Amino acid sequence: MEKESNNHNHKVAIVGGGLSGLTCAYDLINSGAEVDIYEASISLGGIAKGYKKEGWNWSADIFYHHLFEGDKSFKKLVQEVGLKDKLKFYSQNTSVFYEGRVLPFSSPRQILSFPNFSSLGKIKFGFGTGLLRFSPWLGKMDELKAAEIFPKLSGQEGFNLIWKPLLYSKFGEYWDDISLSWLWARIKSRSFKLGYMDGGFQVLVDRLKEKIEKSGGNIYLSSKVKRINKDNESWTLVGSRFSREYDQVIFATPFDNSLMLVNKYLADEERRKYAKIKTLSCLNIVMRLKKPFLEDGTYWLNILNTSFPFVAVVEHTNFVDKKHYNGESIVYAGGYYDPKSEIMKMDKRKVFKEFSPWLRKINLDFERELIDYDLFKAESAQPVMLTSYKKLKPDFKITDNLYWTSQHHVYPWDRGMNFAVENGRRVGKMIVK
Ligand SMILES: Cc1cc2nc3c(=O)[nH]c(=O)nc-3n(C[C@H](O)[C@H](O)[C@H](O)COP(=O)(O)OP(=O)(O)OC[C@H]3O[C@@H](n4cnc5c(N)ncnc54)[C@H](O)[C@@H]3O)c2cc1C
Repeated sequence: MEKESNNHNHKVAIVGGGLSGLTCAYDLINSGAEVDIYEASISLGGIAKGYKKEGWNWSADIFYHHLFEGDKSFKKLVQEVGLKDKLKFYSQNTSVFYEGRVLPFSSPRQILSFPNFSSLGKIKFGFGTGLLRFSPWLGKMDELKAAEIFPKLSGQEGFNLIWKPLLYSKFGEYWDDISLSWLWARIKSRSFKLGYMDGGFQVLVDRLKEKIEKSGGNIYLSSKVKRINKDNESWTLVGSRFSREYDQVIFATPFDNSLMLVNKYLADEERRKYAKIKTLSCLNIVMRLKKPFLEDGTYWLNILNTSFPFVAVVEHTNFVDKKHYNGESIVYAGGYYDPKSEIMKMDKRKVFKEFSPWLRKINLDFERELIDYDLFKAESAQPVMLTSYKKLKPDFKITDNLYWTSQHHVYPWDRGMNFAVENGRRVGKMIVK
């Protein structure tokens, strides 16, 4: 094992090479700090990383990704690193799968023509959703349950038809204890046009890597941090093949991973609080097809049937042009699951076998056009935003010279790349101070 001690004053270690770790490293290096990044996997980007198949000019993301027009922190970073021209916003179609049919659900007119939905129900649904979107005070109601308040605002019919299956698909058994603030933020941040980067979001990851390394930052891949110890004034990070000392350490790893590593430096009260925080895992199959799967041009298909083993089907190439992917249609089918659930243990063939009868309900003949498929999993993917999460949300600072940021540090907004960037910058600023 390599043991290094250094004499530098402000040497910072960042654990985790996802978007928040990379952004934090980029800012700290620009402010003159010496920065090392430790990344457990063989490549950078975390949940937002991309991958490429032969013949593709652009990367596809391992999990479906897009931006909203209001994602200011992300837009600012992209501009700063010289990639502004690569970020483009496109109109897209959202639909729902309801009683065996793909029904468009993007515009008020489409919602008004939705079948089995009474006129009064539609009016209430439109009113309640609008109220939630435009009312600032509903966003502060963190201790109220979305499942109790939303039916009162938007009518039980619309809630049962639309929001209940969506809450259930996203949060499973926790669906009826999700805070109203989270649902408010989720509706508030939506924009009609969605953003994508030419080349995929991996382009930003690559640019940050290039900038960090050019400025003298070290990036250690396949370097999982297994322990952290405090020795006098410095912190020692320990992995299988390294043990190095730092003045400051930032964990930009998923919350559950960081919690295990920093546990001994937390106060008892914090430990009790964080034990209440819940997280779901996710997986998705990414299919490559010779023809579109959602033939009506739908980009995002929400499944309004909780028997399905996946929440949504996302046809990436109904959003950006398939010419960048050698003319192939790229389609995601995925969902959120208990980390201990059987599906999280399955390999790609088993997951596909599980999904395919349900995929056939949407497109009977899709297997004829299938070229290949991949499976991607993330263990700590979706924080469960239970009521009163505000009281549980961790601070960025753990103790002197030890910090953390994760998707669980984002609230009431739904986790996202914009907030990974924003929080990475926020922690960087705290260190510079
Ligand atoms: C299915 C899905 C769809 C999404 N869609 C969107 C979307 O459309 N738009 C959007 O804006 N956001 C979306 N997101 C959210 C977005 O991807 C994340 O919020 C963001 O990428 C999180 O970045 P991060 O750096 O905080 O964490 P991560 O990306 O999780 O990065 C953490 C890194 O830490 C590394 N690591 C873990 N443990 C260790 C260790 N012990 N030592 C060293 N390294 C370690 C991991 O390998 C990883 O690279 C989606 C997320 C999911 C799951």
